[in-house]
Parts: sequence; C-alpha cells; structure tokens
Amino acid sequence: MTSSSIWPGPATRDNALRQLSEFLPQAGSDYAALRGYDLKDHPHVSRLSPFLRHRILTEDEVLRTVLRSYDRDTAQKFVDEVLWRTYWKGWLEMRPGVWRDYRLGVQAALNRIQTESGLRSEWEAACSGRTEIECFNIWARQLTHDGYLHNHARMWFASIWIFTLRLPWELGADFFLRHLYDGDPASNTLSWRWVAGLQTRGKAYIAEAWNIEKFTKGRVPRPEDLAANPAPLDGPPSPDPSSLDLALEWDMHCPTGLLITEEDLSPSDIFPETDRLQAIAHYHATQDRSPLAVSPHVVSFVSDAIEACCASLPGQATHCPTPDEVVTWAIAHDLKQIVTAYPPVGPTADALAALEPRLEDAGIALARIARPYDADAWPRARAGYFKFRKTSGSFLERLAQDAAA
Ligand SMILES: Cc1cc2nc3c(=O)[nH]c(=O)nc-3n(C[C@H](O)[C@H](O)[C@H](O)COP(=O)(O)OP(=O)(O)OC[C@H]3O[C@@H](n4cnc5c(N)ncnc54)[C@H](O)[C@@H]3O)c2cc1C
Repeated sequence: MTSSSIWPGPATRDNALRQLSEFLPQAGSDYAALRGYDLKDHPHVSRLSPFLRHRILTEDEVLRTVLRSYDRDTAQKFVDEVLWRTYWKGWLEMRPGVWRDYRLGVQAALNRIQTESGLRSEWEAACSGRTEIECFNIWARQLTHDGYLHNHARMWFASIWIFTLRLPWELGADFFLRHLYDGDPASNTLSWRWVAGLQTRGKAYIAEAWNIEKFTKGRVPRPEDLAANPAPLDGPPSPDPSSLDLALEWDMHCPTGLLITEEDLSPSDIFPETDRLQAIAHYHATQDRSPLAVSPHVVSFVSDAIEACCASLPGQATHCPTPDEVVTWAIAHDLKQIVTAYPPVGPTADALAALEPRLEDAGIALARIARPYDADAWPRARAGYFKFRKTSGSFLERLAQDAAA
C-alpha cells in the first residue's frame, strides 16, 4: 500500500475488526468525556471512519458491537456520532440536488481560479499550509500527509477557510474529499454546509482561539486574528425531502452478475447466495470524488479494499476500469441482471445512473439493493438531527435488543 503514514493500515476487514476491538474499551464514558480533544495520535476517538465510509465495517455492526458492551446511556455519545453519519446519508439521499449544486459550485470556483490570480494563490497557500495562521497550516499538512483530521480540527479548519481566509467553501470541501481516507459525499458536503451556515440556515460554526487552545491542549499555536462574528453564508433554503424507494430484494431466477463498488465492501451481507451469481466485477469511482487529482494514498487504500473484498468472494472478479467495460463484461457473461449494493448519492451513483440506459439497451437490468439498516434509518432524516434521533428510538431499541440476544 502506498500510504504516507502507518494508519489506517491494511484495507482489510480483519484490520478494521482489530481496530474496533482495540477501541471498544474507550467507546463508553471515556469517549463521552474526551472525544472533543484533538491530541497527538488521536487516542480518544476510534479512527474507524475509512472502514465505515467504504462499509468494510457497517454502522449497523459497529453499533451492535458497542451496544453489546455498554448500556444505551453509557454508549449514547458514540452511538450519536455513528448516527450522524447515517443521518447525513439519509438527508442527502432525499435531496440529491444538494450534491449536484455542490459539484457545480466546485467547478465554478475552479473556473474562477483560472482567471483570478489572487484567489488562486490564496487557495494554493491554504492547501499547502502556507497561510499566516500556523494552526491552520499544521492541519492542512496533517490532512495531506495523514489523510485524517480529528472532527474538531475539521470544524476549525472549515470555519477558518470560510470566514477568515474567505475562500469558497466548495474548494475546501473538495480539498477534504481529495485527501481524506474517509472522504464521503454526504458527511463532507453537509458538514461543510453546516459550518458555513447553509445547512442550518443562519447558524454558522465560528472557530475561536480559546476553544482551539483548550481542545488541542496547546498542541498548535493559539491563532490570533480569526474572524470575529462573521455573518453566515447566504444560500437558498434546503430542498424538501423527496421520497425514497429502496429495493431490498431482487429476482434470483435470471442470469445475474454482482458489481462491487467502493460504496459497500461487505457485499456478502446483502448477497449471501454468491453461488447463484454468474460473474463478479468491480468498478472504482474514487478518482471522480473531485475534478482534480485525488491523493494517491486514498486511491490505493480504496483499490486495496476492493481487491481484499473481491478476494473473499468465490471465483475471479473482473476489474472494469470504465462504465463501458461494465457493459462489455455483462454482455460477455450473457447477464440479464446486474445486482449491486445501493450506491448512495455521490460519484458511484452518478456513474451507475449514466450506465443504466446503456445496460437497458442491451436488455440488462440494474438492481441497486439497499441494506435493511439504511431502508429503516434514511427515510427518518427528513428534518434536523435531533428529530431523526428521536424517531430512531424504536430502531435503536431493536439494535440494542439484537445486540443483547
Ligand atoms: C467539515 C467536516 C468535514 C467532514 N468530512 C467527513 C468525511 O468526508 N467523511 C466522514 O466520514 N466524516 C466526515 N466528517 C465527520 C467526522 O469529522 C468524521 O467522521 C470523524 O472525525 C471520523 O473520525 P473517527 O472515526 O475517529 O470518529 P469517531 O469520533 O470515533 O466517531 C465514530 C464514527 O462516527 C461517525 N462520525 C463521527 N463524527 C461524525 C460527524 N460529525 N458526522 C458524521 N459522522 C460522524 C464516523 O463514521 C466515525 O468513524 C466531517 C466533519 C466536518 C466538520
């Protein structure tokens, strides 16, 4: 693996499970008390996000594991954070236009960079950690080197990017997506919108020097001259949620191939009867996370993870580097249907949407199969997080009961 740092280690399920079990003793009251501290080597958070992002581990199994070890109250903070991930995914799934607008915003900002040399040099200075704000520079270098930032550092970084450096927020979100091992369309886009004051309109997150000093325990220099009381960014209200139509089953009686994507690398949970499959292929959309080059450490982590997943399935999986090659593969195997784990809003879903008409022309159906966890949780993300959590009571209860069984 061509990684610039030791973490996250091999992109395998064994490694993910080992990290989960090592973190488990800290997932209760320690996590509740200490998770806000951004310290060297991040001892108080799980760093499971690259595995959760690609579903090498699922939210469902992480929640069950934690609820098996702790009562609901003790585990509440950790459960809440995992649920934030689920909530963002459901929220965006019901409002795909927000992702489309973000992508257009990135392209518009990149166009500006071509013609505005001042903006270009400020953006380059921010991405390479050469601004006047030393803590920001440290985080920029940490992000490009480690592929990770603590949640609090992400909030401070995004806030300084938007309100002190006054750079377009979409370029900051794009910088994250290019370098984070856990780069995720929903968590990233919506968290940046939240910091900017676009997600909860009129309520921005403003980084403050005392807070940075306290929660880094002075590990980074205290920043001077951060923007004080800046106005939140202005934008259109969030669209109303659309309804979700998530399929849980597929026709098992026609010649079917399985397509693996980076959106879900535990396909045997969804497709247990792999012996019924005619063929298996994999398609990678990692490079499409950004119009610019995605960091090689992210590309190789994802590619290793996909290979490890395919190695755990029977038979040889074909790599289809382009959507066209997915069509060629399906025709070569006389498939009538391709099944794939439901790809949430993002580059993979975009690629599959573009592919579908070509498959239809060839008489091949594309079935996107959701996980019961998502089908249960996502439609609850109609309004704010706390409403989501409230309506998730019975769902969480069931998870806790299953974990106890
Ligand atoms: C501006 C900004 C951008 C972000 N971009 C991403 C991104 O691209 N991908 C991503 O996975 N997360 C993103 N997050 C959310 C969060 O920062 C990371 O999920 C978390 O820091 C991952 O580290 P961890 O696994 O050690 O988290 P832990 O604290 O150990 O939490 C456990 C798990 O809960 C989930 N989680 C925790 N905090 C959040 C949160 N605030 N929102 C959503 N899920 C959360 C993650 O899946 C995480 O692995 C972003 C947050 C901000 C403020």
